[in-house]
Amino acid sequence: MRRKLFAANWKMNLTPTEGRALIAGIRAILDPLAARLARDRDVMVAPAFPVLAAAAQALAGSSIALGAQNMHFEEKGAFTGEVSGAMLRSFGVSYVIVGHSERRHIFGESDELVGKRAAGVAAARLAPILCVGETADERDRGDTLGVVLRQLQAGLAGIADDGAKRVVIAYEPVWAIGTGRNATPEQATIVHGAIRDALRDRFGAATANELPILYGGSVTPDNVDSLMAKPDIDGALVGGASLKADSFARIVSSGMA
Ligand code: PEP
Repeated sequence: MRRKLFAANWKMNLTPTEGRALIAGIRAILDPLAARLARDRDVMVAPAFPVLAAAAQALAGSSIALGAQNMHFEEKGAFTGEVSGAMLRSFGVSYVIVGHSERRHIFGESDELVGKRAAGVAAARLAPILCVGETADERDRGDTLGVVLRQLQAGLAGIADDGAKRVVIAYEPVWAIGTGRNATPEQATIVHGAIRDALRDRFGAATANELPILYGGSVTPDNVDSLMAKPDIDGALVGGASLKADSFARIVSSGMA
């Protein structure tokens, strides 16, 4: 059975002190459930870069993984404002979000740049969480699968075979992010199925069947169970609802045996 992943994207929120407090709150709820969680799901929190050290300390001794929100694909050099895989690994980071819609739409990151970042993450032996998703206009034009599959193909273009097993995809419709309007389980299922088919074409069925495809976009404790009940939705990438310990912990525990 495919493992689920529940990932918190803190975006540009929380100081080190606030991040530590949030992790303490999450651990107070989830640590007692650790053995049950470990059966079928992984949990990750992705703070902003200056909060990684505090978050790593606060996570010591827990099975909650540490993630980052972006990464450059070169190992080092004149890339002001960027961080490398080695830098992230030195904090104990194991997942890196790439191609988040805020990177694509606010900061103009192209499909090609996102693909380079994803390849760099995999080459650094970290797990890329590649975000893909259509805007409201693209959905209204009937172009949802065209956009998602284009972003997916470009995002995976540079991933070598030995990096494939670490890939995570997050389907995040842009119109659902931070809007309080989530995709319905049925809408998400159609896109997740198309992503799974494309992953099989790209990596072969054996590898593709193991890769988690997360849903992201206004996931809350109220809607998570109906989304996670769908067989091709393998967890969630959570923004707003990950900033409160009780709501994130409730999302992580969705459908737990
Ligand atoms: C996100 O930023 O990845 C996200 C899904 O945000 P929210 O949960 O707030 O919609």
